[in-house]
Amino acid sequence: MPAALILHGGAGAADPDSRGQRERGLISAFAAGWNVLSHNGRALDAVISAVAVLEDDPVFNAGLGSCLTQDGTVELDASVMDGAAFRVGAVGAVAGVRNPIRLARAVLEDGRHALMVGPGAWRFARERAVPTLSAQSLVTARQYQRWRTGRGVATPGTVGAVAQDTAGNLAAATSTGGLVHKRSGRVGDSAIIGAGTYADNGLGGCSATGDGEPILRTTLARTAVELLGGGREPGWAAQTALRLLGQRTGGEAGLILIDGLGRIGYAYTTPTMSVALSVERQVQLRVA
Ligand code: ASP
Repeated sequence: MPAALILHGGAGAADPDSRGQRERGLISAFAAGWNVLSHNGRALDAVISAVAVLEDDPVFNAGLGSCLTQDGTVELDASVMDGAAFRVGAVGAVAGVRNPIRLARAVLEDGRHALMVGPGAWRFARERAVPTLSAQSLVTARQYQRWRTGRGVATPGTVGAVAQDTAGNLAAATSTGGLVHKRSGRVGDSAIIGAGTYADNGLGGCSATGDGEPILRTTLARTAVELLGGGREPGWAAQTALRLLGQRTGGEAGLILIDGLGRIGYAYTTPTMSVALSVERQVQLRVA
């Protein structure tokens, strides 16, 4: 079957100043993911490749360029799910790892645990040869500035990917620095399977972005995937899940989805959400 890929670069306020940079970042990340899929590679490898490119790009709030906690540190959340085998890997509040999505992948491959946090997750990175670096080297001037003036709000720029490979397998991945001025030790939805990330070959895959605590309270990614039951449209499932989120919590978010048939959908209730998606093997961008 044909492959399908969708990426997001975060939900939130429009940011015209960084639009060009975000477009270029999403195009590069899409190329990395599509390169895997077009060579009959696995959906799991495609979402990791795409998200790692976005983590390396300082314009996004993930990996390098992540927002800062109230203590002025960087603490990262990431998760990945393989919808073929129901394997998962996630890390929360981890410092000093440039590509937390690769660390989440290592947790998945190891298979002993599903979620690792803090210093123990960092030590696991050292053990598994996932590159580490000094915690401060992930701080950019832009995020330092934002930290000096910011509050505990969602910083647009969380990243995520959902892919279906030519064998029909689905995978989803999400990575973020979280919220500006979050408490040190706070873990958001992006680290939690079912909230920020979910994939089930029988139904679909999803990555969420937006208000983390409301997303957690409604296990939004799984809710959206469950709404795909009965062959319902991904665009409808995304909108319906976001309506439930709004009704139950007042939260705002964005979702990207692919169903078991390879149909792509997305929706957001924030002012905007950047996406790149495959349409007949070509990349289409929606960036504000
Ligand atoms: N959901 C992320 C968090 O709360 C933030 C975002 O997606 O913008 O950590």
